[in-house]
Amino acid sequence: MVHIGIGYDVHALVPDRKLVLGGVEIPHSKGLEGHSDADALMHAICDAILGAVGEVDIGHFFPNTDPRWKGAPSQVFLEEAARQVLLRNGRLVNVDATLLAQAPRIFPHIQAMKRNIAEALGLPERKVGIKATTNEGLGFVGREEGIAAMAVAAVDLPE
Ligand code: MG
Repeated sequence: MVHIGIGYDVHALVPDRKLVLGGVEIPHSKGLEGHSDADALMHAICDAILGAVGEVDIGHFFPNTDPRWKGAPSQVFLEEAARQVLLRNGRLVNVDATLLAQAPRIFPHIQAMKRNIAEALGLPERKVGIKATTNEGLGFVGREEGIAAMAVAAVDLPE
């Protein structure tokens, strides 16, 4: 039986931080603030997978108060989400995500993001969807105060 999950994440854009999305370091004047590498795209996908298996969100697995995860690459979190699927004898079917970023342009990096996410999850790249949109200048995304991501995941689980 296929179960679906939804994930959402947002991080603030601040000076003097690297911008890492989908495991790709993107040259930009600002980066995302957070305890880990603040990869909002990977975090949203993690929560979608965890939601599909009925688990708590990624912050419970990797608390931002734990020094072990300071600056951690978010691939580690995706690997844990994939492990939670395997623990239940499940199979990840696909993930799909949308990034909301006014700047920089995301499109040139999407293929590399897909590669990183597919590798961390043990999925073929064709089962990883990533799209990006600006926010048409509206709201916190439009003002370039932050970048958000939403994701869904489908997981085939035994009954
Ligand atoms: Mg996050």
